[in-house]
Amino acid sequence: MRPSLVIVGAGPRGTGILERIAANAPEYAGLELDIHLVDPFPPGGGRVWRQAQSPLLWMNSQSQDVTMFTDDTVELDGPVLPGPALHEWADLDGRAFADRQLQGAYLGWVYERSVAALPPGVTVRHHPRRALRVSGPREGRQQVWLDGRARPLLADTVILAQGHLDAELDAEQRELSAYAREHGLVHLPPDFTADSDLSALAPGEDVLVRGFGLAFIDLMVLLTEGRGGRYEGDTYLPSGREPVLHVGSRRGIPYHSKIGYDWTGERPPLPRFLGPAQIDELLARPDGYDFRRDVWPLIDKELGFAHYHRLFAAHPERTAVAWADFEEKYAAAEPLSAELQALVASAVPDPADRLDLTALDHPLDGVRHTSYEELQDGLRGYITADLERRHDPAHSPDLAVFLGLLSVYGQVVRLGDIGSWWHGFFSYLASGPPGPRLRQLLALSRAGVVKFAGADMRVTAEDGVFRATSATVPGSIIEARALVEARLPHPTLARTRDRLLRELYEEGARATPAGLLAVDPEDGRVLHRDGTAHPRRFALGPHTNARGAGAFTRPRTNSPSFRQNDATARAVLAFLRDLSCRAAA
Ligand SMILES: Cc1cc2nc3c(=O)[nH]c(=O)nc-3n(C[C@H](O)[C@H](O)[C@H](O)COP(=O)(O)OP(=O)(O)OC[C@H]3O[C@@H](n4cnc5c(N)ncnc54)[C@H](O)[C@@H]3O)c2cc1C
Repeated sequence: MRPSLVIVGAGPRGTGILERIAANAPEYAGLELDIHLVDPFPPGGGRVWRQAQSPLLWMNSQSQDVTMFTDDTVELDGPVLPGPALHEWADLDGRAFADRQLQGAYLGWVYERSVAALPPGVTVRHHPRRALRVSGPREGRQQVWLDGRARPLLADTVILAQGHLDAELDAEQRELSAYAREHGLVHLPPDFTADSDLSALAPGEDVLVRGFGLAFIDLMVLLTEGRGGRYEGDTYLPSGREPVLHVGSRRGIPYHSKIGYDWTGERPPLPRFLGPAQIDELLARPDGYDFRRDVWPLIDKELGFAHYHRLFAAHPERTAVAWADFEEKYAAAEPLSAELQALVASAVPDPADRLDLTALDHPLDGVRHTSYEELQDGLRGYITADLERRHDPAHSPDLAVFLGLLSVYGQVVRLGDIGSWWHGFFSYLASGPPGPRLRQLLALSRAGVVKFAGADMRVTAEDGVFRATSATVPGSIIEARALVEARLPHPTLARTRDRLLRELYEEGARATPAGLLAVDPEDGRVLHRDGTAHPRRFALGPHTNARGAGAFTRPRTNSPSFRQNDATARAVLAFLRDLSCRAAA
């Protein structure tokens, strides 16, 4: 029997793993292997990056920040195989934001190139179906059961690269949906916006939207330009088919704009206060660690270091002491201590030049408006100021903090699942919408198509309608007959709609505290509640604690995703070789 590998999920992860199998295969002379890729969507882009979606939807990464290829910064055992980043492949301005279709084409090309690079003994077959189940003993071949096929695929090893998944509704969402059904209202629960049916949102209708991140940006685009509106300069010309979107969230503001200038000069030497040594120390604690108590102070100190390093280097006139002096005292001070605050206050005269992560996380704290009309002006001012700041190199400490966030992200990946707050905070600061999208948001606000609903938005369903209130406009209420939850589903193993993963969980696979599939961070082997690692089952990606960078890889960043893909590809190839050797003996 020829050795066989089944990869479930042929999106960016599945494709990246295939690229690593091709890269490592030459080490295994005479390799014979059948690879089966299972995904109802086309390999390369998969579901999120498929060609068949609105061309209006963009990436929120600049095209120069997206690569599928390793470089000499990546610490891996397999070979580095360079290739073009998205902007090079598509011949785009590196600062441009490609649409998702184009990114899908790039991923499709990477897939084809990886398949072509495989040695002659390796075959690849795509099965455009859903995988429903994995069965089989730990010490024997696995069976992967596909939708609509009576007989399973046989696999010596299985890799689950299933990525972003749908979730069953939680109790609150179920209640809201039931209320909507009973009262003839519209409720759209968390979903992949590109896949949502938005036709129930009628022209001119007031719609409450809860969530102001990237899912909101997608929704905004599909309900405006997607319904025939267009922009003339900074003016939005409605088609008349748009609903009126009242958007709010906990913070009440959109994510910070992507930064619109490049780095110049010396980079902050990172990691400094949160590097491998600190992570080792946290991992070695017999009683474990607590994110807020043990990790967050280190993050705060690291980001502060990046910020002040840049401020002192680029704008010494905005500082009151010499860098060497400051650096020494900063290094000695306890994170988040009064001593550290006092040091910063004495060295950086203008409070606007100091980094305050708590204030950044609660931007509308203490902001009060007497009416929603007043809030609109206030928030347009806020967004305009954010856009200007994020495109003005005089604020380049912001870019240093961004580099700090990337560095921290790369480090804390080793801690595995540290909960969703950190990912949300990271996205809010480092992974916000392209500047042009915020300019569109401003135009839509002026046109009255988007209305801001404030911070700490609370939604209730009563008297046959949905009602929203906000701490920003005390005493005021917005009523609507439609509510959209503008965020991705958050599937846990217990709540995922994916049957295969749910069954794996029921049969003993371990969940992380946040409910993700627990895998060995070294090679991606699926872990079990009995403490063992499954020898033949692997998993990588957002549905696991091996989430890599949580985004596409930026060139030259020693990406954890590439390291994981390489380690898993090598573990699988080594396992298959041992199996063949045993069979031959
Ligand atoms: C809407 C959205 C926009 C994003 N935009 C950006 C961005 O602009 N920049 C950035 O850097 N990152 C972005 N990301 C984050 C990141 O790049 C994506 O998360 C990336 O798609 C992850 O790749 P993946 O292969 O792990 O998961 P996915 O892309 O979700 O791919 C998983 C694949 O597995 C398949 N699958 C799942 N279950 C089964 C099953 N049972 N049987 C068969 N097939 C199955 C799915 O059909 C899918 O094709 C975005 C994520 C989302 C969700």
